[in-house]
Amino acid sequence: MIQMVDLKKQYLHIQEEIDNAVLNCIRSTAFINGPIVSEFAQNLAKYLDVKHVIPCANGTDALQIAMMAIDLQPGDEVILPAHTYFATAEVIGLLKLTPVMVDVDPDTFLINLEEVKAAITPKTKAIVPVHLYGQSVDMEPLMAIAKEHNIIVIEDNAQAIGANYTFNDGTIKKTGTIGHIGCTSFFPSKNLGCYGDGGAMFTNDDDLAAKLKMIANHGQSRRYYHDKIGINSRLDSIQAAILNVKLKYLDTYNSARAYAARYYNEAFSDIMELQTPVKQHNSTHVYHQYTLRVLNGNRNDLQDHLQALNIPTMIYYPVPLYNQGAFKGMIQEGFSLPVTDLLSDQVISLPIHTEMDEVLLNQIIDGVKSYF
Ligand SMILES: *Cc1c(COP(=O)(O)O)cnc(C)c1O
Repeated sequence: MIQMVDLKKQYLHIQEEIDNAVLNCIRSTAFINGPIVSEFAQNLAKYLDVKHVIPCANGTDALQIAMMAIDLQPGDEVILPAHTYFATAEVIGLLKLTPVMVDVDPDTFLINLEEVKAAITPKTKAIVPVHLYGQSVDMEPLMAIAKEHNIIVIEDNAQAIGANYTFNDGTIKKTGTIGHIGCTSFFPSKNLGCYGDGGAMFTNDDDLAAKLKMIANHGQSRRYYHDKIGINSRLDSIQAAILNVKLKYLDTYNSARAYAARYYNEAFSDIMELQTPVKQHNSTHVYHQYTLRVLNGNRNDLQDHLQALNIPTMIYYPVPLYNQGAFKGMIQEGFSLPVTDLLSDQVISLPIHTEMDEVLLNQIIDGVKSYF
């Protein structure tokens, strides 16, 4: 049975380490905010080369806490791509901020910087670039735009942990460490996934780090002294124990995904109806998803064909954010963006994970080829 992600096989390769880490955590009984959580935060900070990592309960909370930390007022505008996961926009709506959705690039699927510029108003207070499917938005020009207009940048790095972005002068930084705050998710299927829910925020700014920490912890900076209304959002020690093991393998895992992507690319290069993933020129790609565009209008047909062969696929995302019922009233009636509309009809993601061998890849490739 082919799966989008094979977490079982991945676990079996590191079973002893994971089992020991979890058992040690249970035996320590330090289940909440224990030393294992701080150890993981330090390990991740070192890996990312960022000053602060603040763990929290999931990626959606990370985005919400980040939005809360920059002191926005209801009605302030936040720019985000319309082609992304719901959570990116959900927290904006939840905090009574105004989501301003802009279009994405038809090749890289990433937020279009010209559209960002055009969407800026005096009310724009934040931009949320999403490193969708595993590669970085062109952050250097984005940060320049943000600086010019005094706008905070919150990176949604849930799909790109481990990806590198190269600046014009050759400096390389990890995605999520370039904006003012980076947010990520440790949802099991993410590139660095735990065995439940988890998330984290990254920043190089000491004041922001203190605020993020405080908001994630009931708005208290000292126990039982609450300066702000916050939330309760923690990473469990057991999940941190698992992440401490898996972080060591993150680069290997990302290379395994890149291998599978190259294999697919090669196999599909002569199918004119398919557009294989296009690299953003100054980013590496960690292939959280391997997403094709089906250019002949038969995307759903191809999906049915593969389903009949027991090859799973997913559509990320079938409905543009502005057409989601949740945003009725927040988004102008009839609003639409051409590329986002197009992509929601054309994209299809194939299985990609850390445990793919040629036999499995060929089986999926043969399935796809048999359609064309
Ligand atoms: C997974 C994901 C999130 C949310 O993370 P959760 O841990 O599921 O809350 C947010 N944004 C993007 C782009 C994601 O892929």
